[in-house]
Amino acid sequence: MLELKNLTVRYGKHLAVDDVSLNVGQSEIVVVLGANGAGKSSTLKAVAGMVPASAGEVRMGGATLTGVAAHKLTAAGLALVPEGRGVVGQMTVEENLRLGATPTRARPAEEDTLAQVFEIFPKLAERRTQLVRTMSGGEQQMVAVGRAMMSKPDFLLLDEPSLGLAPIVVGDLFRALARVRETGVGLLIVEQNVKISLRHADRGYLLEAGRIIGSGTADELMTDNAVQNSFLGGA
Ligand code: ATP
Repeated sequence: MLELKNLTVRYGKHLAVDDVSLNVGQSEIVVVLGANGAGKSSTLKAVAGMVPASAGEVRMGGATLTGVAAHKLTAAGLALVPEGRGVVGQMTVEENLRLGATPTRARPAEEDTLAQVFEIFPKLAERRTQLVRTMSGGEQQMVAVGRAMMSKPDFLLLDEPSLGLAPIVVGDLFRALARVRETGVGLLIVEQNVKISLRHADRGYLLEAGRIIGSGTADELMTDNAVQNSFLGGA
């Protein structure tokens, strides 16, 4: 279980994440929905050790992660797919994927995990020698997810994976993420794309001005008044 307990992030006087508590189980997709500036990225960055938590705690498998450096978190089983993907354009698909297999926990299984990534993303197998900078946004996002999988994480954090992608590509991506879940990984995804993420998530939380204002199963949130009014235009 990945747990955020009363997590708070401040930038100077600005309270970006305000007392957020949530959890993600193994083989579960949990989505945090919020508008621009709601604090989604700040929440993920605090979990990933990229910004300091001003208060509260992050725990994984019962151990505290708060204050642990970002690279050590990957070694402990937590991988982040950042907004903008962070792939290396001048390297090939396979070279990018193998970059992810640096933690000690990931090395013995590198070939098996690569085969698993290629099974979930057949397009990456076809394009394994292609330079990543010549690929579409959706393909680059697949590389980013594949590379994170190569570190053999227990939990995967994704910052707005649908950003800038065509709807059909977003559908493919989320279906692939559902297959990643089947491998036992827990996924925490922050998204503005409410419809597609709730279609594939198990549970979700609503974030507004840094605070959790609602939570429930994906089905419950689909019909929730706050979700309807804030995100789905009252449809
Ligand atoms: P977006 O979808 O636009 O990225 P978000 O929900 O991810 O939004 P955050 O990026 O976490 O939101 O930002 C939350 C708030 O914190 C915003 O008001 C933002 O301006 C502010 N903020 C984010 N990063 C910093 C920073 N490094 N310094 C100061 N304020 C920041």
